[in-house]
Amino acid sequence: MLSRSEIDVAVRRLAGELNRDYRGKNPLLIGILKGSFVFMADLVRQLDFPLEIDFARVSSYGRGRQTSGKVRVLFGPRCAVQGRDVIVVEDIVDTGLSVSHFIAYLAKRHPASLKLCALVDKPARRRVPVQIDYLGFTVPDKFLVGCGLDWDEKYRNLPDICALEDEE
Ligand code: 5GP
Ligand code: MG
Repeated sequence: MLSRSEIDVAVRRLAGELNRDYRGKNPLLIGILKGSFVFMADLVRQLDFPLEIDFARVSSYGRGRQTSGKVRVLFGPRCAVQGRDVIVVEDIVDTGLSVSHFIAYLAKRHPASLKLCALVDKPARRRVPVQIDYLGFTVPDKFLVGCGLDWDEKYRNLPDICALEDEE
């Protein structure tokens, strides 16, 4: 669905926007594991301002393709968030439940600013509104794998983003 070269172009564009907005600010980038690890690695290598990175884990998906609708922060960032310019780095926003829960969790910890950077937006199944401040792609409602995204823990290593065929 999205080739490695298209992803590279999008990452460079997003990095350009962040380089413009965060110059001189030393923000804290928090990647949501596991899916964001490839995007995070691609993105930070294009950023030219001082920054810190951390990761958090949010539950919602089990082994299959369905979301349970229940979201928990399994572990939060180890860095203090208070007073920091925080950028949440997410692989894909689908129903929006995970990232909106995580953003509410961070907001309670009083960051100086809080923005969301997502590689992919899949708005068809959105259940709660999510403001994506820095967005790579908007895609139709297909289950995607590759570039960090898994199906049953497989395919995270694919360089491209591919749509899985329907099971039926
Ligand atoms: P949401 O809470 O917005 O429904 O989705 C949260 C998480 O579900 C995403 O961060 C991602 O890890 C996973 N997810 C959503 N859509 C897809 C998809 O198409 N493929 C994969 N592999 N994971 C997805
Ligand atoms: Mg994710």
